[in-house]
Amino acid sequence: GTRHPSIPLPVDLFGQWRNSAGIDLNDRAILAETAAAIAATPIANDGTDAVHADPRRASGKAKRKLAATTTPDLAVHEAVTRAQAAYAAWDRRPVEERAAIVERYADLLEEHRTELMALCVKEAFKTIPDAIGEIREAADFCRYYAHQARGLLAPMTLPGPTGERNELRLEGRGTWATVAPWNFPLAIFTGQNIAALVTGNTVVAKPAPQTPMIARRAVELAHEAGVPRDAFILVTGGADVGAELIADVRIAGVAFTGSTATAKRIAHSLLVDEDRAIIPLIAETGGVNAMIVDSTALPEQVVFDVLTSAFRSAGQRCSALRLLLLQEEVADTILEMLRGAMELLVVGDPGDPATDVPPVIDRDAYERLMAYRASVQGSWLKTVPVPDEGLFVPPTLVGIDSVDDLNREWFGPILHVARWQAGTLEATIERVNAKRFGLTMGLHSRIARSAEIAETRARVGNLYVNRSMIGAVVGSQPFGGEGLSGTGPKAGGPHYLPRFCAERAVSIDT
Ligand code: GLU
Repeated sequence: GTRHPSIPLPVDLFGQWRNSAGIDLNDRAILAETAAAIAATPIANDGTDAVHADPRRASGKAKRKLAATTTPDLAVHEAVTRAQAAYAAWDRRPVEERAAIVERYADLLEEHRTELMALCVKEAFKTIPDAIGEIREAADFCRYYAHQARGLLAPMTLPGPTGERNELRLEGRGTWATVAPWNFPLAIFTGQNIAALVTGNTVVAKPAPQTPMIARRAVELAHEAGVPRDAFILVTGGADVGAELIADVRIAGVAFTGSTATAKRIAHSLLVDEDRAIIPLIAETGGVNAMIVDSTALPEQVVFDVLTSAFRSAGQRCSALRLLLLQEEVADTILEMLRGAMELLVVGDPGDPATDVPPVIDRDAYERLMAYRASVQGSWLKTVPVPDEGLFVPPTLVGIDSVDDLNREWFGPILHVARWQAGTLEATIERVNAKRFGLTMGLHSRIARSAEIAETRARVGNLYVNRSMIGAVVGSQPFGGEGLSGTGPKAGGPHYLPRFCAERAVSIDT
């Protein structure tokens, strides 16, 4: 339980933008402060909440959650009307002003970190290390996108014949709809919305119904930093509110992170109205992410990286390892070590700093995962005991006959294992590609040629060689996939912001 990898200290990446201020996991003062904040946070995730935009239709618990918040929600139509009205003035402000506001917002996120971390623990069952990760990634997105926007939105003069002046500029497109997931309720929520805002758009943001409180605090802090109230409006609720928002023809773009099925429904609904403009959809969805281990890999490192990639955050990351592929010759040894290491996993209360594996997000997820797990009980290679009370899905290893036998994402701490034969690396990668997901892939090998094969063959957005497959760092590991895993561009990378912009060329005969 005390084996959390230490998180690297802040670095000034390439001297361009400041990475998140250090929150040292071993800093006892911060842990103590966070524990106190957790104790003082008067909300509980009982696993049954579905918070609705209309408090009258919310369950008792959800009502109490809503009552504890300060800003009443607007209905979707009114939210879009206000965000549209706010657009022109916000877009006309110099990019420098918007970037400075976004940087102030990053500072506020850090200043309010214990409160936000406590919300992440209470509302989203984040472990403390994961809650720290939320603050850092959210602040990193702000600083990185602020830095990018300054360069990107500067008008560009283009060549042309004498007597003609050609200029290209990027501007906001209008009002974006963003739909964020519960698994990164602060980081991804912030990333989507800040990308839209810093480029001059206004936003109507719908957080996941499981995590409205975190989103609400994030929006309040953004307003405090200087984002105009009507430029960034929260609407909370479930799929019906999301659908109403997406259906609003005044929306100029959609940024979505969630399931592949929902992304497809959104893509479809954007096309049905013939009169509607053709608008961009940025979708980041799931994956059936494989790690391929060959006989030259370092077994101890493999085991550590597998535990981190498959079970940290209870496996509730899009990037998480789902399918471990062991070369036949080392499979038994590595499985034996993995079984032993799984015994040491601490499954428990997310607020306890010793916890490795927290509960899953809600009762629906719990029941879905437990039913699936029970259905494959005959193939369990290992599972571990968990506390009786709570939504704890036991970390489980499930043996399957071949790489082809897993084709859907189980969003939890269930890891499938298959074997592959020496000499079939390329074919094995192609079989993973054939699933048509394309988010993360891992390779553990000390053969340089094998890494080259993976680099050229793997159809994934993020390939990780000899390391874990989670925790992409903004600016260093732009994150996002292809195929069934999403549209791109990658979050935290240099090509993300342009997708939020309209490109305008002006040519003047002088
Ligand atoms: N960026 C996260 C990671 O690298 C995953 C994001 C997600 O689950 O959507 O672990």
